[in-house]
Amino acid sequence: MEEKRNMPELQSAKSIVLITPAYNEEENIQAFVHEVKIHLSDYSWMVVIIDDGSSDNTWKEIERSAGEDKRVKGIRFSRNFGHQAAIKAGVEWASTIEADAYVMLDVDLQHPIDLVPQMVEMLNDEVHIVQGRRNDEGRKISFVKKFTSAMFYKVFTLLSGIRIEGGTSDFRALDRFALDFIINNIDKDAFLRGMLPWSGLQTEELCYFPKERVNGVSKFTMRKMCNLAMSGIIGYSTRPLYISLVLGSLCLLLSLMYFAYVVIILAIGKETAIGWASTIACILGLGGTQLLILGIMGIYLGKMFTELKPRPAYVISQTV
Ligand code: UDP
Ligand code: MG
Repeated sequence: MEEKRNMPELQSAKSIVLITPAYNEEENIQAFVHEVKIHLSDYSWMVVIIDDGSSDNTWKEIERSAGEDKRVKGIRFSRNFGHQAAIKAGVEWASTIEADAYVMLDVDLQHPIDLVPQMVEMLNDEVHIVQGRRNDEGRKISFVKKFTSAMFYKVFTLLSGIRIEGGTSDFRALDRFALDFIINNIDKDAFLRGMLPWSGLQTEELCYFPKERVNGVSKFTMRKMCNLAMSGIIGYSTRPLYISLVLGSLCLLLSLMYFAYVVIILAIGKETAIGWASTIACILGLGGTQLLILGIMGIYLGKMFTELKPRPAYVISQTV
C-alpha cells in the first residue's frame, strides 16, 4: 500500500479527486481536462484517468495532458477490463490521496462537470454520497435503451430488495468515509450502483440533464450492458435460485399428479391410451425446467468461481 499523499498546491479551498474511466476516447481527453480546469478553478483538484485498454490514441492523449499539467494522472490497463474495473482502479489510486471529495464521472462530457462543485458542497458530516440521477426528459434515446434500462432497475429492485431509482448513473461524489467503505468491501465483479444503496450510507440525489455525446460513440454495447445487468442481479440477489426452486417443485408436483392419474386409470381397468403428444410435452417440460435450474445454478457457481480466484480485477501496464 502506498503512503498517503497530499494534493499538490493544496489551498484552503476544498480538494477533489476525479476518477474517470476512458475507453477509446482520444477526442475527449483534452476537452475533458479543459472543462475541469474551467469549472473547478476554485478548488484544488486532481484527476486520474483510467485507460481501459483503448486501441486508439487515448493513452497518448492522457500522457500529453499529464505532461502539461501535473494534476492529471493516468493509469493504463493492459486490455479492456470494463468500466467498473476502471472505476475500481481509480478508487484504489484515489485512496492514496487525502481529499475532501472523490468524484466519479465519465470522460465523454455527458456528466456535466459544472455540477461537480454543487455535488461536492452537498457532502457533509451526515451525507456521505451525492448520487447523480439522470433526467432523460426530452432526450432522444433509443426505445430499446430506455426500456431495458427502466426494466433493469425494476427487476433489480424486485429481486434484490435494494431500491435503485431509474436513471441512477455512475456520476457521484463520495466523502472519505464512503470511499474507504468501497475500498474495503468492493467485489471483484463490482456493481457500484447496487453496492452503494446496499450500504445504506446516507445519500442525497442530484438530478442532472446529461449532455449529448459530442465526440465518439457510446462504448456501452448491448453485450456490455447485459453483462453489467447480470453481475448486478447475480451479485446482489439469491432470489433467482428460489424462482427455479418454485418452478421445479411445481413441475414435479404436476408430473406426480399426472402419474397418479395414470395409475388410477389403470387400477380401475379403464383403457389407457396415453398419447404421444402428452409424453413429449412432459419430457420437454421437465427437461426445460431442469435446464433452467442448471443454468441459474451455473451462473451462481461461475460467480463464486470468479470471487474465489486470486486473479485481480484488472492489470495495470503503465502509469503516468
Ligand atoms: N468505458 C470504459 N470501459 C468500457 C466502456 C466504457 O472505461 O468498457 C468508459 C467510457 O470511456 C466513458 C464511460 O465509461 O467514459 C461511459 O461509457 P459510455 O459513454 O460509452 O456509455 P453511455 O454514456 O453511452 O452509457
Ligand atoms: Mg457516455
